[in-house]
Amino acid sequence: MSIDPKTYTYGDDVLEGRIILITGASDGIGCALALHAAKLGAQVVLHGRNTRKLEEIYDEIEATDGTKRPSIAVLDLSTADGESYAALTGSVDKEFGRLDGLVHNAGILGPRLSIEQYDITDWQKVLHVNLTAPFVLTQQLMPLLKNAADPSIVFTSSGVGRVGKAFWGAYSVSKFGTESLSQMIANENLHTPLRSNCINPGPVRTKMRLEAYPAEDRDTLLRPEDIMPAYVYLLGPDSHGVTGQSIDAQ
Ligand code: NAP
Repeated sequence: MSIDPKTYTYGDDVLEGRIILITGASDGIGCALALHAAKLGAQVVLHGRNTRKLEEIYDEIEATDGTKRPSIAVLDLSTADGESYAALTGSVDKEFGRLDGLVHNAGILGPRLSIEQYDITDWQKVLHVNLTAPFVLTQQLMPLLKNAADPSIVFTSSGVGRVGKAFWGAYSVSKFGTESLSQMIANENLHTPLRSNCINPGPVRTKMRLEAYPAEDRDTLLRPEDIMPAYVYLLGPDSHGVTGQSIDAQ
């Protein structure tokens, strides 16, 4: 990788014409990415579970650039069944016929407890939302990704997706699994244009970070808007051929 994703610079139209689905676009990093990608010319599909929050982002994008209306895909990743995944895929297929970028950003933290104390139901929920749901969504959307000329899947990892640390429970395990899933997809598609990579956002001022570190001075943290270059790099043409990597956004 000759370009440093953290300091990557790009033109105002670097994502022009790309159809990019972002999960968890209703808040935090996903919301910032949706707004930014739309500014850079992408046609964004806003995924989330809260219609009202998604509509607010829709309105903000539409007010900035009326030429490309985003789409909204409502799906609760903790409860979605096969039919609702198929409905989401069907609507992207019907509207666009392809997908250039898929950003698996939605996630939950779950409890911060020792393995001895961790509740099994919580464990299953965190693994389901953070790992199983991205697997199912990727599998469902793969034909549409393969219809694109330069498709890119971006998974979201974490520092605790590389090192197991006390009290991070199922969240950490889900992020280790995410790294593996991304690498497998990359490896299985080595001889195709499809690339699959992970981003570790690092500490970012969002509600999840606040939940994990309630006593932290939030002013010391970067905002979601500050870590966009790594995402743009992986979603745009300059990362063509970069696959199976896990990169730090800061
Ligand atoms: P956030 O502000 O809490 O946003 C999480 C997003 O995921 C929200 O849009 C949320 O929807 C959505 N979501 C949660 N559960 C969902 C479900 N069941 N179905 C559909 N959507 C669901 O978190 P963030 O900090 O931006 O995190 C984004 C990603 O970065 C996560 O994968 C996280 O693990 C990772 N990360 C963050 C940090 C950090 O410091 N912030 C560090 C390392 C990794 P609602 O708006 O409806 O809640």
